[in-house]
Amino acid sequence: MKEDYYDILGISKGASTAEIKKAYRKMAIKYHPDKNPGDSEAEEKFKKSAEAYEVLSNEDKRARYDRFGHQAFEGGAGGGGGFGGMDMDDIFSQFGDIFGGGFSGGGGFSGFGGGFGGGQRRAKGSNLRIRVSLTLEEIAKGAEKKIKVKRKVQAPGTTYKTCTTCKGTGQVTRVTNTILGRMQTASPCTACSGSGQIIDKRPPEADAHGLVQKEETVSIKIPSGVEDGMQLKVSGKGNEAPGNGIAGDLLVAIEEKEHHSLKREGDNLHYDLYISLSEAVLGSSREIDTVTGKVRIKIEEGVQSGKILRLRGKGIGSLNGYGKGDLLVHVNVWTPKNINKEQRDFFERMAEDDNFRPNPEKSDKSFFEKVKDMFS
Ligand SMILES: [Zn+2]
Repeated sequence: MKEDYYDILGISKGASTAEIKKAYRKMAIKYHPDKNPGDSEAEEKFKKSAEAYEVLSNEDKRARYDRFGHQAFEGGAGGGGGFGGMDMDDIFSQFGDIFGGGFSGGGGFSGFGGGFGGGQRRAKGSNLRIRVSLTLEEIAKGAEKKIKVKRKVQAPGTTYKTCTTCKGTGQVTRVTNTILGRMQTASPCTACSGSGQIIDKRPPEADAHGLVQKEETVSIKIPSGVEDGMQLKVSGKGNEAPGNGIAGDLLVAIEEKEHHSLKREGDNLHYDLYISLSEAVLGSSREIDTVTGKVRIKIEEGVQSGKILRLRGKGIGSLNGYGKGDLLVHVNVWTPKNINKEQRDFFERMAEDDNFRPNPEKSDKSFFEKVKDMFS
């Protein structure tokens, strides 16, 4: 028995759209694979809640589910494939409308077909895939990119007529003789791909499906906090389908450009700061890079090499909209090489001085305390 979608999200049958969204957001954060590495039970829950959300967040699908239960999406009910499980890409692309905004639903998922109850199916155009490269600064802020995309669109002037093979029903019935007697089976009409319509007239530049290639500028909103390898979905901006079909989606793969001085680790950023021996002893003030511009930080006199300075909230805003990472500045004391005679004398004099002998107990913080600090 498949679990009830409302039960999975822990909501009532009468839940509002906002309640559904809220419930899913909660589940997605709790069971996110990044938070539960290697936990297959959490992953299962993560997938199940994504599936439940996919259906309940769509008015049309929700109505069907309320009426027919899981059967509404199973093969044989006259419609297309059904679920076959969402993969992680689908789930993360769904995050756009949950966490980011700008990636509103619509469209429906491929394979669904929309033909519940027998009859015609709506063809779906194929998906298009593009890559978008973003700087860390853009990722931190969120970005809107205008990208030129070549997509197939319906050629103006194309007209349709009722399919002669299936007479517009979208299905052909076949009678076969089996040992159990005569059996009648219905299958989608191949002449019209089940749509019930075929092309009547098309302009010379159109292909056999009445489509032409067209370059369009698509505006893509990228929420802050995306990561390299993530995929966003812009519904309906893939190739169009002929006739009354549904356009495919534009799948946007996110690429993160390497930053010249900042390293990203989840929502936190790391910066390696090199200071001179004299800066370590005397203290200093230095300008460092952040994703929102340079900031000046103070180096206390007597700072130890390896000290980590934490600039709270100077990291990346998390994709789910809750909180911001930090910028961790790692202090490295630069030791000079190839010193001259005079410098050598100077350091030899210091070597005899007790004050220059390492004494971790007396220093402000031990290595282990620093490590503890990092995780607190
Ligand atoms: Zn047909």
